[in-house]
Amino acid sequence: LHEGILRRQGARESAARTYARALPIVPVRARGLTIEGADGRRYLDCLSGAGTLALGHNHPVVLEAVRKVLDSGAPLHALDLATPVKDAFVTELFRTLPAGLAARARVQFCGPAGTDAVEAAFKLVRAATGRTGIMAFTGAYHGMTDAALAASGHAQDVRVTRLPYPQDYRCPFGVGGPLGAELAARWTESLLDDPKSGVPLPAGLILEPVQGEGGVIPAPDAWTRRVRRLTEDRSVPLIADEVQTGVGRTGAFWAVDHSGITPDVMVLSKAIGGSLPLAVVVYRDDLDVWAPGAHAGTFRGNQLAMAAGTATLAYVRENRLAEHAADLGARMLRRLGELRERYACVGDVRGRGLMLGLELVDPEAETETEPETAYGAGTGAGSGAAPLAAPGRRPPPAAPALAAAVQRECLRRGLIVELGGRHGSVVRLLPPLTLTDEQSTAVLDRLADAVEAVEA
Ligand code: PMP
Repeated sequence: LHEGILRRQGARESAARTYARALPIVPVRARGLTIEGADGRRYLDCLSGAGTLALGHNHPVVLEAVRKVLDSGAPLHALDLATPVKDAFVTELFRTLPAGLAARARVQFCGPAGTDAVEAAFKLVRAATGRTGIMAFTGAYHGMTDAALAASGHAQDVRVTRLPYPQDYRCPFGVGGPLGAELAARWTESLLDDPKSGVPLPAGLILEPVQGEGGVIPAPDAWTRRVRRLTEDRSVPLIADEVQTGVGRTGAFWAVDHSGITPDVMVLSKAIGGSLPLAVVVYRDDLDVWAPGAHAGTFRGNQLAMAAGTATLAYVRENRLAEHAADLGARMLRRLGELRERYACVGDVRGRGLMLGLELVDPEAETETEPETAYGAGTGAGSGAAPLAAPGRRPPPAAPALAAAVQRECLRRGLIVELGGRHGSVVRLLPPLTLTDEQSTAVLDRLADAVEAVEA
């Protein structure tokens, strides 16, 4: 069964398939942190549906909520009509929103994926401001559809102006810390203000409070507040992409709660659907410039996903799982720090809450695999957006092959982890927020063994 399915799907599915390549397993049963393969092997799943499963696999409250809808005879497909199931979801969602937004929030249900909500957010801010440009950050990930893709990663696109995202390790300015964040903020300010930069005022600026796919890079709160002030002063809507960071993942219900900022727009998906596909864009009411029908789509508001999502949001809130994530995540990060001390190939460990990363490097090599490039490239920015580069320390080159080896060694030890980062060199942990102390120890023991095997 196991080999046959792997062989057939490998032959029939697009070469673009991703997770299936690195993880040749055939899950047939799952509960909580554990997945069981068709070959009978059991795995601790720290990929969690790419950060979707806040409560782990098949949590009883999620299953019960879905069964309740199924047994009630309610329509499973209801377009965007008003239903009791949707009413309960929106009520629970609004209860959790940052206070500044909750009082004046509007929600638009989007196509089922995060990328659909990103597209909707761009469309909304363009309609609301009459401007077209979008500003996004280096290393960002916002999705795989056209505009979301343009705003992601290193891809250059005429409509997107790329801004430096502050990071300590591999700081683009070679300084890290508060100075690196200050330089990144100044760069943003110069692109917003300097007429010589050639960048028109954008329709919106999109920000991940912690970059996930980009390699688990938490933005400093002071920098986030600074970007909020810069955008507010210039009436540029700030779009917080909380697709991955939302619902307690980073140790606050929404990651923007750490800095206390109120975004104008929030893009939400993944965990809000309690493991089923659901995506929304939430925004302040004065941005609600859309005419009826201006944003449509057949699969907006899946009833089962809303029910699963309501149960998940309520469970995370009532059981204070964000606090649990903050506490357990901090302890796990300390243990990851021990790995950095012990193994030269572990260049950095970082994260926030239960969104953790461990970066593999090649300590023998002397130069960067890819020198950091000028951030102005491709933005139309001229001399106005003066590079602020400062010479400084450079970490050893990223080691994507080592990271892939750690991922394989983890899998051999029954641990599923994901890779990320612009070089693919960051091992990422996104365990369910229900993770216990005992489970976290099992996860870290297996990871430590895997690193040891690779270093040896
Ligand atoms: N934004 C962020 C921050 C994400 O992490 C992702 C998915 N990893 C997306 C958007 C896109 O979501 P989806 O894959 O559901 O389209």
